This record gives sequence, C-alpha cells and structure tokens, in this order.
Amino acid sequence: MPEGDTVFHTAATLRQALVGRTLTRCDVRVPRFATADLTGQMVDEVCCRGKHLFIRVGPASIHSHLKMDGSWRVTSRPVRHDHRTRIILEANDVRAVGIDLGVLEILDRAHDGDAVAHLGPDLLGDDWDPTVAAANLTAHPDRQLAEALLDQRVLAGIGNVYCNELCFVSGRLPTAPVSAVSDPHRLVCRAHEMLWANRFRWNRCTTGDTRAGRQLWVYGRTGQECRRCGTAILFDDIGDRVTYWCPACQR
Ligand SMILES: [Zn+2]
Repeated sequence: MPEGDTVFHTAATLRQALVGRTLTRCDVRVPRFATADLTGQMVDEVCCRGKHLFIRVGPASIHSHLKMDGSWRVTSRPVRHDHRTRIILEANDVRAVGIDLGVLEILDRAHDGDAVAHLGPDLLGDDWDPTVAAANLTAHPDRQLAEALLDQRVLAGIGNVYCNELCFVSGRLPTAPVSAVSDPHRLVCRAHEMLWANRFRWNRCTTGDTRAGRQLWVYGRTGQECRRCGTAILFDDIGDRVTYWCPACQR
C-alpha cells in the first residue's frame, strides 16, 4: 500500500529518469485532461508532499496521488496496452507510466501548491516539524488515535501500515483516544523515523529487522504471535481502514 515513503521513493525514481529531459510524448488518458500535450517541454522538477506527487513541466504541474493501488513505473521498453494506464510520459528512450492513479490532474504550475495546502507537516519534507505535528495530533483529545494518525491534515504521509505500527509502538489501541498517548511528541518522532528509514526501500520495515517475515510488528499478521509477548494478533476492518493490534500490549 502506498504511503509517504513509497511516494518519496517514487519521486526519486521519476526525478532521476525525467528531470532535465524534454518530453517526446505526453499521453494523458484521463478524459478531462486528454487534450493536454506537454510534448516539447522540459521536465524541470519532481517533488512530493505527503502522499502527493508533482512532475513540473514547463508551465504545467502533473499532480498525482497513488491512493490505494496506484503506481508509477519507469521503463525503457515499449509500453504495452493496459486499460489501467492513466498517463505515459516519454523522453526518447525513457518512459514513465502512471498506473491506476487515484488522482491525476494537470495543474497550473504557479498554483499547484493549492492541492496540498490542507496538509499538516510532511513527515519526509524539508520543513518537517514535530512540534506542529504533535500539537495537531492532540488538538482533538477525544478523537480515535488511528483516525487522527491517518488524517493528512494532522501530519502527512501515514497510511494504514504505519498507522497500525505506530499504535503498537505507542502501546495504545487504534481505537484509544489521542489523549491516552503518553508522549505525543515522541510518537510523531517515531513516525518520522519509520518513514525516513524506509524512504528508499520498497520492502517496508518498522521493527529494525529487515529479514523476510520479520519487518513489521502487527500489520498483516492476523493470528500470528506478537513479537513482544506471543499473544495472537487481532484484526478488524472498518470501511477502508484496517486495524491490527496485540490485545495484551495495547490498551
Ligand atoms: Zn503483545
């Protein structure tokens, strides 16, 4: 599942492939922007903010969000027909293909920041600010911890995986109120450490042990033994939010 680290890594990959190169093809397969043609323009910047990605080309900014299943691939091979393809950017022999993107729009570059103005501090941004993030987190003390961590206006970059892992390391249930967290500043710093450690990895790890099957504390581990106490990990599903927790370690 794409979270802030995935988007950061994707931005780095696209940056390396495209920046400084002139587009020789721009094929947008979203009806609203199907006529947008940036052929002949140079890609000057690729950046991300939270889970949002921007490819800045001449006067335009291609804004995308991976949502649940989206991805960008860079390839030197011809692109095969795929109904999930939303955009193809080509610079001679290099192709960047956006697949199943939850959001894809072509914005006026001068105002692309409006698309992310609502976001809280970006966990992987140059301006990451744990004090502001902790203040945002505790602004509504009765709110459920998981809900607050997933709210990109509080802090930007956390999805279901980090949300569950952070609840575990804080010793709190995902449904516990934010006020139950003993040290909110420490928790947002843990969030930053986790995403930072994974920013160039595709195989996410929160436990510090990168061996297969040992990378995560609770996420995706229903019925398996808690790494701390051996109790079986539980699972629940609330809308598009999935929760995993240890009933002994988390209160
Ligand atoms: Zn446990």
